[in-house]
Amino acid sequence: MASSIQKNAPQRYVDSYYSRSISDNSSFPALEQDISASVCIIGGGMAGVATAHGLVDRGVRPVLLEANRIGFGASGRNGGFVSPGYSANINSIIAKVGKDCTRELLTLTRDAMDIIKRRIGNHKDRLCGGTEGLLNVSWFNQPGQVQRNLDLMNDLMGVEYEYWSREKIRNLYLTDRYYDGYMKPDGFQLHSLNYTRLSARQTEKGGAGIYESSAALKIQHSGNGWKVSSQNGSVTADNIVVCCSGYIGNLVPRLSRSTLSVATYILMTEPLGNRLQTAIRGPYGVSDNRFSSNYYRTLEDGRLFWGGRVSMFNPVGNRLKNIMMKDLLHVYPQLRGIKADVAWGGLMGYATHKMPQIGQLEPGFWYCQGFGGSGMTTTIAGGEVVSAAIANNEEQYQLFSPFGLNYAGKPFGPAIAQSAYWLFQLQDKLKAWRLNR
Ligand SMILES: Cc1cc2nc3c(=O)[nH]c(=O)nc-3n(C[C@H](O)[C@H](O)[C@H](O)COP(=O)(O)OP(=O)(O)OC[C@H]3O[C@@H](n4cnc5c(N)ncnc54)[C@H](O)[C@@H]3O)c2cc1C
Repeated sequence: MASSIQKNAPQRYVDSYYSRSISDNSSFPALEQDISASVCIIGGGMAGVATAHGLVDRGVRPVLLEANRIGFGASGRNGGFVSPGYSANINSIIAKVGKDCTRELLTLTRDAMDIIKRRIGNHKDRLCGGTEGLLNVSWFNQPGQVQRNLDLMNDLMGVEYEYWSREKIRNLYLTDRYYDGYMKPDGFQLHSLNYTRLSARQTEKGGAGIYESSAALKIQHSGNGWKVSSQNGSVTADNIVVCCSGYIGNLVPRLSRSTLSVATYILMTEPLGNRLQTAIRGPYGVSDNRFSSNYYRTLEDGRLFWGGRVSMFNPVGNRLKNIMMKDLLHVYPQLRGIKADVAWGGLMGYATHKMPQIGQLEPGFWYCQGFGGSGMTTTIAGGEVVSAAIANNEEQYQLFSPFGLNYAGKPFGPAIAQSAYWLFQLQDKLKAWRLNR
């Protein structure tokens, strides 16, 4: 197998809450020599860094190549909500692999929460915001439905998530849009860019070589392993792990064809002062249960951090702020007149089955990607199973094999994602019209 891409100039972090509050912006070096290592990881988002960290924990010293900066992609721009589980609906996972494997898959993400906490260590004040607990609210008036979902989740995940009535939610979140919901007390809010960079530094201290501004441009067979070439150097390795997700471009066509790069967005308002209390009195992160859902949290200085939407049109600047503000005011019309500060987008790598894609294309050619809406805990789970497989021949990664590398509709992927989003939005509206009258 040989594959290559065109070189683009390395990019800086986008203007966002995260880049504005980065705690250490010092660069990692660029690769400027030919080196060898037992493992070369391509992509320095949470998945790549977690794989490197997992290898170092197991006594292996990998090399990681990042095209831009560590956490440049989705990992340094996201909503910051950390909780276990996958993007795919639990019932669809059960239908595919049965209850026992579903339980094992979910356990991996619960273990990942512990690993994140362990790596945060005594940096909690700097990395975790708000109060622990993520609230999931129902947009729909469906008596009994939330409780049924909750019972299934509590059973399969071994958690004790709490049912919240409509009244309890409305005491803290002053909107007519929500019905009942549930609280995930183990969920928390993470500064994902600072976390990813911290984990990369810890990994470097453990003996890994971490390189920024070092895009992998070409991958070739070399002896029994692989040679990964960047602009000014190369890495020869027995194993490579591709973790480029939504930013993969054409580096590995087989992976690229299986990746739907979905753009999604976040708005940060200016500090809202006393006005915040007219709408939001709870300290928790909140998300709703529409397909086209919103998620939000408040920041220490009284700003609102509001996420959602999918768009192939890549809105930026004031246009993006206006789109996001419209969604915010749809939930909290009492905040009309508040000002947006900054809005940004990022690409999530999705598989059509909404589960991570983890496995080998050939012996020693690993991929660990497609974390899309499943999110941060699943990247850590992916990093763990891949590093355990490489370092110790463990086979847990095969739990993900049934999901595979489905064709994601390239080159029409973005148009497909946009159309699906519009369809889901319409379904949400029809469902609300039917149930909430
Ligand atoms: C706006 C937004 C909000 C989100 N909110 C949440 C949330 O609240 N909670 C949650 O759990 N998840 C959330 N997610 C999803 C979560 O951020 C992702 O699932 C996760 O960060 C994916 O990590 P990753 O390492 O797979 O990909 P990325 O972080 O995208 O990393 C891929 C990296 O590969 C690099 N790369 C690409 N090509 C090359 C190459 N040729 N050579 C070297 N490097 C290369 C890129 O520069 C990039 O840094 C959100 C995502 C977005 C975009």
